[in-house]
Amino acid sequence: MTGWWQPSAARPQNDKKRDTMKRTADVVIIGGGIIGCATAYYLAKKGKSVIVLEKSKVIGYGGSSRNGGGVRQSGRDKRELPLAMYGVKHLWPTLSEELGVDVEYYQHGNLRLGKTDEHLDILTGLTATAVEQGLNVQMIGSEEIRELCPHLSDEVIGASWCPSDGHANPLQTTLGFYNRARQLGVQFLTEQHVLSLKMVAGEIRNVVTNDGEFEGDKVVLAAGLESRPISQSVGVDVPMKPIFLDTLITDAQPPMFYQMLGTAMADFYGHQTTHGSFVFGGGTPLDSNQMRSAADHTPIEATAATCEGILSYLPALKHAKVVRSWVGIIDWCEDKVPVLSKVEDAPGLILGCGLSGHGFGIAPAVGTVLAELACDEAPSIDISGLGYQRFANRAQ
Ligand SMILES: Cc1cc2nc3c(=O)[nH]c(=O)nc-3n(C[C@H](O)[C@H](O)[C@H](O)COP(=O)(O)OP(=O)(O)OC[C@H]3O[C@@H](n4cnc5c(N)ncnc54)[C@H](O)[C@@H]3O)c2cc1C
Repeated sequence: MTGWWQPSAARPQNDKKRDTMKRTADVVIIGGGIIGCATAYYLAKKGKSVIVLEKSKVIGYGGSSRNGGGVRQSGRDKRELPLAMYGVKHLWPTLSEELGVDVEYYQHGNLRLGKTDEHLDILTGLTATAVEQGLNVQMIGSEEIRELCPHLSDEVIGASWCPSDGHANPLQTTLGFYNRARQLGVQFLTEQHVLSLKMVAGEIRNVVTNDGEFEGDKVVLAAGLESRPISQSVGVDVPMKPIFLDTLITDAQPPMFYQMLGTAMADFYGHQTTHGSFVFGGGTPLDSNQMRSAADHTPIEATAATCEGILSYLPALKHAKVVRSWVGIIDWCEDKVPVLSKVEDAPGLILGCGLSGHGFGIAPAVGTVLAELACDEAPSIDISGLGYQRFANRAQ
């Protein structure tokens, strides 16, 4: 079993060279996850100088390397569907070539499964919304489902089917953006814990870390959940809370199917990788206190609950062994979609947070629009439903 899907495989990438460290750039990005790395890459392509400040010792150690790799358009909220569709049409197909690394992007479709009439109602509603926005997704019955994936339980009676959905390798993609951004001159500084923002002459320009101050004409905040306390330092509050998700990987199985699977109730999702292992993600039955004490490793109860859900849909996997499992934290935004936005009362600040557990698949598109916002260009993708303004007038 190789370690390619393991969070800890994100090798240390500390660019800190104190003698040559720059402290000013056109754009300072906070957070070295996939959103920060992708934004840095697209900005560097536009010729901007960029500094990325990352709190931990490595790049991509957060959700960006711990996720299930789903690149899905189906089942998305209609406010973020344009990002998902744009990415699948214009960015993912050529990403490996563009980044010079195989991001293992496969477009084998997504089956979202239902076992009851209630499940089918949920799937039909999601499908209708997506079709209205131009996505090719449809409801299919038992026979068609089994033609696509013969290994499912007889209890599955219907599914939504989106043939252009797929999956990719999170670690390869995150580090791919990082490496190309570095080649284009972006300075990544690890072990820079951002503490607060500062306004200078009416604009957000300065970023205060444990190691001093950095200055940019624009500041992009992409620090996941921790974006909240950072933006609060200048009176901007994005309502997010932590939710814990677990992921597991099995031993290698003979080739069975390559679609991405999900369920109407979102009990689990997953796919078989090219290496033969299955990667599955799910929620956790444990509360946040129990998960906090679990550090990086999924408690056995959580893995057992996810496995129970998986086997009830895929009994063919009953002999597969779980070889590893891990926990990730998501930045769950109150209305379940990201905040990708300038801020009226804090000019110079650009928010790229609240990805709410589905930010990997849209990351290339998110990086594209955040780079456009930081260059004062009109976004090339419709993000009108994702502005900070929807929260701006609430009392803090
Ligand atoms: C288990 C799991 C499964 C998932 N499955 C999927 C999926 O299948 N498909 C999908 O689309 N999405 C999925 N997601 C969601 C996806 O992983 C995230 O939405 C995405 O990675 C968010 O990227 P990010 O860069 O915003 O966050 P992160 O990867 O968390 O990066 C934020 C970075 O900011 C840094 N940081 C935090 N505070 C500070 C600070 N004060 N100063 C400096 N740096 C700071 C962190 O160290 C971190 O590196 C999943 C998430 C999890 C946890």
